[in-house]
Amino acid sequence: MNTYARLPVAFTSGKGAYLEDSHGNRYLDGLTGLAVVGIGHANPRVAKALAEQANTLTHTSNLYEIPLQAKLADRLCALSGMEKVFFANSGAEANEAAIKLARLKGNKQGIKKPAVVVMDGSFHGRTMATLTATGNRKVHAGFEPLLSGFVRAPYNDVEAVEVIAENNPDVVAVFVEPVLGEGGIEIPDANYINELRRICDAKNWLLMLDEVQTGNGRTGKYFAYQHTDCMPDVVTTAKGLGNGMPIGACLARGEAAELFVPGNHASTFGGNPLACAAGNAVLDEIEALNLCDRAAALGERIVDQLSNKLAGNNTVREVRGMGLMIAVELNEDAPELVQQGLDAGVLINVTQGNIIRLLPPLTLTDAEADELASKVVGLIKS
Ligand SMILES: *Cc1c(COP(=O)(O)O)cnc(C)c1O
Repeated sequence: MNTYARLPVAFTSGKGAYLEDSHGNRYLDGLTGLAVVGIGHANPRVAKALAEQANTLTHTSNLYEIPLQAKLADRLCALSGMEKVFFANSGAEANEAAIKLARLKGNKQGIKKPAVVVMDGSFHGRTMATLTATGNRKVHAGFEPLLSGFVRAPYNDVEAVEVIAENNPDVVAVFVEPVLGEGGIEIPDANYINELRRICDAKNWLLMLDEVQTGNGRTGKYFAYQHTDCMPDVVTTAKGLGNGMPIGACLARGEAAELFVPGNHASTFGGNPLACAAGNAVLDEIEALNLCDRAAALGERIVDQLSNKLAGNNTVREVRGMGLMIAVELNEDAPELVQQGLDAGVLINVTQGNIIRLLPPLTLTDAEADELASKVVGLIKS
């Protein structure tokens, strides 16, 4: 169906940070399929794990034990400080699980219409619940009626959430991205998540973080909340977890980890042996190459170069980043830069019309990072 305005290029193979198209042209991938191929194209560790698992067992069912799923869950919990995991196949599905947890908690407490606080500018997915949670009218348009049970607040505005806390007894959770991804790499104040944690503690709400994009080392820690000194109750992730194999996860601790019981949530494919073989291989690679620290260092390197080379450029409003989530915000819309990037052999994204978004692989060499920075600078009018 006509769901994508596709660019006129088809990639036929990839290796690390590079893609090759059907005409043999090479491109430096500054986007990784939107933060998915975090450890590089055709990653040998993932390829080997997938081939071996495909030759052994791809799918059984969640009716049976799945040791690779249990192993991946244990590893994610050890990395995050969470206690239990539900596996799904995408970011939206992981987020559906989080929203269902919040509603279960509310209904259990006798709140007839439990509500979740969500933020303007956020993106949580395209299913009915997650598009309703999304703080972007364009994502809602034409799909009304939206779901009930969501209360909206501006992003990075603690006071707005305080006001909701004082006035709305139906709220049971806050659901928020630690850095806005689709919303334009918007990095909140350093104490934002801590302040939300404080409100959630005072009100007995769940703090639920959407780390679908920010997770899996992307920001320089395994999860972005690990830059703060507080813990969420629920955290979701997906994009970078399978390096291209569809997998999503909803992690929880404490009360939230005990809300699902057999019969109230499920997924046929979720956490099958093939997907979990990829997930385990991704974690092996992140650990073996110390990719969280590497993402932090690469991010600083790229942001420094962009900032230096673009200093004094009147078309540029701001260069910012957290690890390998990097934005060059322009003063005017420039959607044409995506095609111009293709022509110059570099894949970038432009979000919100005027924000160049870079989500390169965590496995970049220093030379590749420098090439990315200089190619992006080359696209911007001086
Ligand atoms: C991409 C994204 C989603 C949706 O993930 P899908 O796998 O496309 O369903 C949800 N939340 C955030 C923050 C995302 O970046």
